[in-house]
Amino acid sequence: MEKQIRCTLCGTDMKTMQLDKYNKPHGFALMAIGVVIVAAIPAEALLSLVLVPFGLVVAFSKKEVWSCPACFSITERIGNKQKYGW
Ligand SMILES: [Zn+2]
Repeated sequence: MEKQIRCTLCGTDMKTMQLDKYNKPHGFALMAIGVVIVAAIPAEALLSLVLVPFGLVVAFSKKEVWSCPACFSITERIGNKQKYGW
């Protein structure tokens, strides 16, 4: 059973939603660098074997946050620290 929390700004019951955990363009940049390295420097292809999966993780990782349907404030679910807006 999930704990329900209320928005600290307007008191509305908050819903969970998924956000990108990391910066998506950074993930794609890492993958692009990995691909370029394979094409340009085959000797360094091993490095890209690390970069490409890492980029995929960065680009597609999700985290669950509380979001308020009324005022769209976002509250991190991990820890007590609260963060608003985007
Ligand atoms: Zn609210």
